[in-house]
Amino acid sequence: MTTTSLLSPGVFAELLPAMLADLEELVRCETPSADQAAVARGAALVARQGELALGVEPEVLVLDGCTHLRWRLGPGPARVLLLCHQDTVWPLGTAEEIPWSVTDGVVRGPGCFDMKAGVVLALTVLGRLRAEGDDLDGVTVLVTGDEEIGSPSSAELVRQEGRGCTGVLVLEAGGDGGALKTGRKGTSMYDVLVTGRAAHAGLEPEKGVNTTLELAAQVLAIAALADPGRGTTVTPTALTSGTTTNTVPAAGRLSVDVRARSAGEQQRVDAGMRALTPTVPGAVLELRGGVNRPPLEESSSAGLFALAGAVSARLGLPAPVGVSVGGASDGNFTAGVGVATLDGLGAVGGGAHAAGEHVLAGELPARAALLAGLVSELRRAGVATGAAGTGTGRPHDAP
Ligand SMILES: [Zn+2]
Repeated sequence: MTTTSLLSPGVFAELLPAMLADLEELVRCETPSADQAAVARGAALVARQGELALGVEPEVLVLDGCTHLRWRLGPGPARVLLLCHQDTVWPLGTAEEIPWSVTDGVVRGPGCFDMKAGVVLALTVLGRLRAEGDDLDGVTVLVTGDEEIGSPSSAELVRQEGRGCTGVLVLEAGGDGGALKTGRKGTSMYDVLVTGRAAHAGLEPEKGVNTTLELAAQVLAIAALADPGRGTTVTPTALTSGTTTNTVPAAGRLSVDVRARSAGEQQRVDAGMRALTPTVPGAVLELRGGVNRPPLEESSSAGLFALAGAVSARLGLPAPVGVSVGGASDGNFTAGVGVATLDGLGAVGGGAHAAGEHVLAGELPARAALLAGLVSELRRAGVATGAAGTGTGRPHDAP
């Protein structure tokens, strides 16, 4: 069954102390993505909080050493995916520099905003719906452990859980003022490796093949692939070449960060990167990397954003604001396989990945009410049409 009346922010205001207690427990257990033991400890806490809320243990999926959690509730067929991660960008020890605190309604602590508060919101909302008698049939919750490093072990899991869903609700932190993230640029990452030939820079430089000169040419050619008018950025980043001051450099490497709003732009740049050719006679280029996350195009979020507006109106909340951002999330993967995806449904606050990271506690009840309404409405819509996979986005990274 699905609920027909929406749960108000007031219902969740009563749960705010419990939400903050859960958030404190998660924030105090630091989970840098690269530390798989730490991520596993955090996953165990999330599993326990989720079991209390949902009444059932998660599946614990360890992929390439990284721990992910999945609750797949009921047989469906229509499914809604709540997508979360519990790893953070913060190294162990950050909790001593930026300790957990709640002062005047401002919550601080590593990863509170990105996105441990989102995990707590998802579990709290589902637990409350369950307490209302909702069987949560068709709901999937995924809590991954390597989102902040590009989801190397979980990308396929995220795509797999997204496929066939009526909608994907991503609990990443909201934009400024709690804006919902209706678009995210796609990301590509490359390394350009150049091989030349060493020679003494004083005695016989003409016998060398200079990788610094080659990289100088490539940096400019690569930067020229950008198209600011279309929002496509192509940024040469880390660069190394050579060994000593007086040796013609024989090896060099350049990293490149690409962001694009459309799959077409992402593919145009990819083709350009693959077409790079050496300019210094004898130099050899090798390209590594490629497309990491496809864009979350606004067409993928439009339907769910409209639904968020309708739910907000029924709850008496201000109309949601949508924002398109440069940073990617796991929502890019589900949008990339053509499933309707709305991101930024997590906490209101700011300072993601920065020392000022914070969550506004007083906004959590309204966020919870919006999420609860979206879950209920999406499941009812999915059941009514008997349809799964009614995403409005178009597939552009189908396997
Ligand atoms: Zn995040």
